[in-house]
Amino acid sequence: MILSKKLETTINKQINAELWSAYLYLSMSAYFESINLGGFANWMRVQAQEEVEHAMKFYHHIIERRGRVILSAINVTPTTWKSPLHAFEEAFKHEQKVTAMIENIAAIAAAEKDYAATSMLKWFHDEQVEEELQTDTIVQKLKMIEKSTGGLYMLDRELGKRKKE
Ligand code: MG
Repeated sequence: MILSKKLETTINKQINAELWSAYLYLSMSAYFESINLGGFANWMRVQAQEEVEHAMKFYHHIIERRGRVILSAINVTPTTWKSPLHAFEEAFKHEQKVTAMIENIAAIAAAEKDYAATSMLKWFHDEQVEEELQTDTIVQKLKMIEKSTGGLYMLDRELGKRKKE
């Protein structure tokens, strides 16, 4: 039942990474506000909230396994991007990185035959498929509309509808 030190350290790092993700998406949200794309800003704000929830799932797992949560400093994030497309390309790349990190934790859990951690991580594998799909879909839509301000306006309205589930 007790979490190994190795997994504890790795999951603590993941808590930091998830909180950094929240910080990144909130920074992207502020960027979108600054260029008057309130719908995009809304989408990123909801995304940031989800990242805090991811961090909390890992947080609770450590506590439930009688481990010790150690919070560390959150690095600075970029504050501006060249375009909405650039921001979403960066978001997609970031999610691919997060997927690799979660797979790394899963590999450690598998090597240790830690079935409880493996079970907890299953939710994250499914979530990452969704995260990558969602961000890449918006990248593809942004490529489709390219420099069409009408298209950008419509996509902004669509992304403005996203609500916290
Ligand atoms: Mg996440």
